[in-house]
Amino acid sequence: MTDTPEILVPRPMMPTVTEQLGRRFRLHKLWESGDGALDAVAARVRGLATTAAGHPVDEALLAKLPKLEIISNFGVGYDHIDAAAAARHGVVVTYTPDVLTEEVADTALGLLLATVRRLPQADRYVRAGAWPKAHFPLSPSLRDRRIGIYGLGRIGRAIARRLDGFGVPLAYHSRTRHTDVPYPYHPDLASLAAAVDTLIVITPGGPDTKNSVNAAVLAALGPRGVLINVARGSVVDEPALIEALRAGTILAAGLDVFADEPNVPAELMAMDNVVLLPHVGSATLYTRQAMAQLTVDNLVSWFDDRGPLTPVPETPWPNPRRA
Ligand code: NDP
Repeated sequence: MTDTPEILVPRPMMPTVTEQLGRRFRLHKLWESGDGALDAVAARVRGLATTAAGHPVDEALLAKLPKLEIISNFGVGYDHIDAAAAARHGVVVTYTPDVLTEEVADTALGLLLATVRRLPQADRYVRAGAWPKAHFPLSPSLRDRRIGIYGLGRIGRAIARRLDGFGVPLAYHSRTRHTDVPYPYHPDLASLAAAVDTLIVITPGGPDTKNSVNAAVLAALGPRGVLINVARGSVVDEPALIEALRAGTILAAGLDVFADEPNVPAELMAMDNVVLLPHVGSATLYTRQAMAQLTVDNLVSWFDDRGPLTPVPETPWPNPRRA
């Protein structure tokens, strides 16, 4: 039993994750024992399983875990983990890319159509009994739109593939120009926003993208502008967005993510030109099971001495502690 690796699980995860990990490892579930229990086990913890909705993994936590070798994150976004600090501590960070790409792209398209065609509003109209009295007002259309994708990575490309089928013109902004796609590249976000009227945000969160969709970008998008955010709430300057929606600087927004989840600003809740989702980009049983399995498999592979399956780009691998 002394050889069984000890894994810290700060916050609840899908039962299939904790059940599988519990069969193989000794788990410390902080939500059951209380955060105070961390000190009693910290010196022995070799693995950590977490989610974006979990505990931030920062320098302070890493400093408390001298034997930590690996952090397995449930999700492709890991802005809640200080991956650079983990690298300094020689700790591998893994995530769940690819298995959720198509699902999140589906959600983005659903949110885009819902926002532009005002589908949730139309549903509410029927339920309110308004249809017999008058037709639902004509909505904006995707047909005369130009779409900008901010972040042409795995998910951004999957969104672009779907939009190709919709027959709408695309352009994009990312850190680098990609020569294998036919879409115009904009080296800065404001220039992309000025060239399109519909902006889909699908970058990572974190300091590099924080508040990058700001008042100037929204102004460049213009009065027909539609903003779709399926990335992270931190990427959009939320007060600037609220003001832009209120003032008519842009037309509408579809948001799956928010600055302070699960709290959604009352101003957004009150607006009729906004579609709000509770961070459900990857939230289907099918995809969450695949994410859960990869979260487990990364830890199992690591402690079987087969290395991490899907390390984040910043991760130190081969790992000095296991080399
Ligand atoms: P990738 O790493 O494959 O793609 C990220 C893209 O963003 C790349 O095109 C990258 O540029 C670009 N990018 C990164 N930093 C910057 C920057 N500072 N300025 C401009 N562009 C930047 O990630 P995925 O496509 O797999 O996932 C993207 C994000 O989507 C995740 O990090 C996560 O936060 C979010 N997400 C949200 C979900 C939800 O439920 N709403 C579910 C899953 C993911 P380059 O091409 O030059 O490298």
